[in-house]
Amino acid sequence: MKDKISVFWFRRDLRLSDNAGLYRALRENKTVLPVFIFDTDILNKLENTYDRRVDFIYRAVNALNEELKNHGSTLNVYHGSVIDFFAGITAKHDICCVYTNHDYEPYARERDNFVSEFLNSRGIEFKSYKDQCVFEKQEVEKSDGKPYTIFTPYSRQWKNKLTAFYYKAYPTEKYFRNLKKAAPAALPPLESLGFEKTDLSFNPALLPGEQLLLKYKDQRDYPAIEGTSRLSVYLRFGMISVRALVARALPLSETWLNELIWRDFYMMILWHFPHAANNSFKKEYDQIPWVNNEKHFEKWCSGHTGFPIVDAGIRELNATGFMHNRVRMIVSSFLVKDLLIDWRWGEAYFAAKLNDFDLSANNGGWQWAAGSGCDAAPYFRVFSPAEQQKKFDPEFKYIKKWVPEFGTKDYPTPIVDHAAARLKAIATYKKALSESRQTNLFETPGT
Ligand code: FAD
Repeated sequence: MKDKISVFWFRRDLRLSDNAGLYRALRENKTVLPVFIFDTDILNKLENTYDRRVDFIYRAVNALNEELKNHGSTLNVYHGSVIDFFAGITAKHDICCVYTNHDYEPYARERDNFVSEFLNSRGIEFKSYKDQCVFEKQEVEKSDGKPYTIFTPYSRQWKNKLTAFYYKAYPTEKYFRNLKKAAPAALPPLESLGFEKTDLSFNPALLPGEQLLLKYKDQRDYPAIEGTSRLSVYLRFGMISVRALVARALPLSETWLNELIWRDFYMMILWHFPHAANNSFKKEYDQIPWVNNEKHFEKWCSGHTGFPIVDAGIRELNATGFMHNRVRMIVSSFLVKDLLIDWRWGEAYFAAKLNDFDLSANNGGWQWAAGSGCDAAPYFRVFSPAEQQKKFDPEFKYIKKWVPEFGTKDYPTPIVDHAAARLKAIATYKKALSESRQTNLFETPGT
């Protein structure tokens, strides 16, 4: 009789080192077959064949395969639906258990429940572990057992709870001998998955330098300075362990640690309150009568609003798939408040363009800007693009990089008057919120 084997299913954790689920699988001393699925249920929804994210994942999977080859193994890569994959692999091998790491997004939770039931019905265990974040689910909760919805007390409790246990590395390398031996195999070409190579520059994920972290607090808000880690896309696909980043942050920068905590926070907000994926976290904000002017939206999407810091941000995004955090805040506030366009339009645009697109962080960021989120900016606080530019791009360095025609007659005039737009936004919000409160139809979750 054939020996039973285990499967390790890579998803948002494309690395061998310090990988919680992989460690658990390897430690059992069974042969572990490493797999990756190019899931057509996700890929078929993408609108363009030129997609930097797919190219990025492809290269990350390729790098993982190269690493596995160094250990005499190879990655089992499949292009199709997840269930088809598991139907095929369970028919081919005698599998005792499928290991993976938790994914907290609504689609992933549904998929994993389905896979788990499918496997269980065949007598195969499905085991999933925390790896993507430091604390999950109920690990950081209020004394009454409810989830936090405000960042500051959440982060305080997060820090109180943190001990070295939570950020020590899982020493997967001790058990690499248990990886299934296989003749080295290459990945199918990207084109065979229906996608093109892009202009993406792909580098290995590295821990941020000491100097960057020491200066982070003072430099992180200036988009013309390379003052942030640029690790978001690597974290998104798990090419670097968040535990290693916490260990790095602790002695060097509490401000940077707080950003990693925001990441945990938004992941868990979405996990506890999945309605926020499509609706306002604070339900009464769904009553705002958005103007949704399509011409304004097009100008925003192409970076031709006549507000240079907004246009620079969008053009950076369109050209590279990245936008600096300070500018993400300005650009999102402008869309929602100055143009009174539904935050979901902006969220969807970012989702299509950002290399680091992450449902929880993107949704959290947009709902923060719209005022509809947990711990959001109050609705009457409206960013002034001109003031933001004076503070954070005083020499127009960032603007000139992305909007070369700025200052010439070719640069458009502003599509709205900011002062008037601000008053209109405040009045619109105030009316909608007071009406919905009067009818008292809505409860805000978590309060
Ligand atoms: P650093 O400043 O070096 O921060 C380190 C890491 O902390 C980041 O890589 C990221 O993983 C995490 N982080 C930092 N800020 C936040 C935050 N506010 N919320 C959650 N995690 C954070 N981040 C995404 O990863 N994906 C998104 O889709 C996304 N969409 C956003 C949309 C809006 C409207 C806003 C305002 C912010 C969004 N962010 C998103 C958060 C933030 O802008 C990016 O994480 C950051 O710009 C990435 O650059 P960095 O890696 O250099 O970050």
